[in-house]
Amino acid sequence: MKAIAVNGTSNSGKTTVSTALIQGLRRRGYRVGSVKEIHHKNFTIDPDAKVDTRLHKAAGSQLVTARALRETAVLHQCKLPMEEILRYYDHDFVILEGVADCNVARIITAHDETEIAERVDGRAIAVSGVFANTNSGKILDMPIFNVLKDAEALVDFVEERAFEPLPSFDADCCSQCGYSCREMAGMIAWQKAAREDCVLYSQATELIMDGEPLPMVPFVQNILKNAVLGVAKELQGFKDKGKIEVRFKL
Ligand code: SF4
Repeated sequence: MKAIAVNGTSNSGKTTVSTALIQGLRRRGYRVGSVKEIHHKNFTIDPDAKVDTRLHKAAGSQLVTARALRETAVLHQCKLPMEEILRYYDHDFVILEGVADCNVARIITAHDETEIAERVDGRAIAVSGVFANTNSGKILDMPIFNVLKDAEALVDFVEERAFEPLPSFDADCCSQCGYSCREMAGMIAWQKAAREDCVLYSQATELIMDGEPLPMVPFVQNILKNAVLGVAKELQGFKDKGKIEVRFKL
């Protein structure tokens, strides 16, 4: 699953760019999901008591599902980390509107050069939104895409440059590639490194929780592997080569 973020100030064209990408990628036959970051502090799906999910929540239910004829909303009572949210997606592409805490390439939307300069980090690779309505070419070495005139050009670009999100480990936990996860995301976004350069890409030891692999830095992979091997070697039937699976329920 590849993802790309669209980041910018309010009314700078984030939603226009995000929906243009969703439509363009769907037209090309991809399975597309999206995440919309809501910045309003008091936002809630069920603001009044007309929908009884609010009463479930007030009673203390820790995971409430609103199930209707056309939509189902699973309401977690907290802001989930992006890595956890993305486990729900098995799409070809996920568009992350307004999401800043995910190590993927970013498209900046802005009104002017000052806003672009404020938002550029190593992961930004293109500019679009309101600024692109009156500007073209490049800025800060990033191509400018006007999705109102030529959305397909941005879809081509995203198709080529989006990559599977990197983890968000602290540098203390992992810097096996020689960079932080965020720096590495910038290197991949600018095609100075490949997604395979993250050592977790081909994780040799996997820990699967409810069908989903949990990311582990190499140090933790080795601890787990050595612990399991220490037990398995003492058992009858142990072989030097093969695949070991351990399953248990919590
Ligand atoms: S190897 Fe992967 S997980 Fe480790 S710091 Fe680099 S990008 Fe992050």
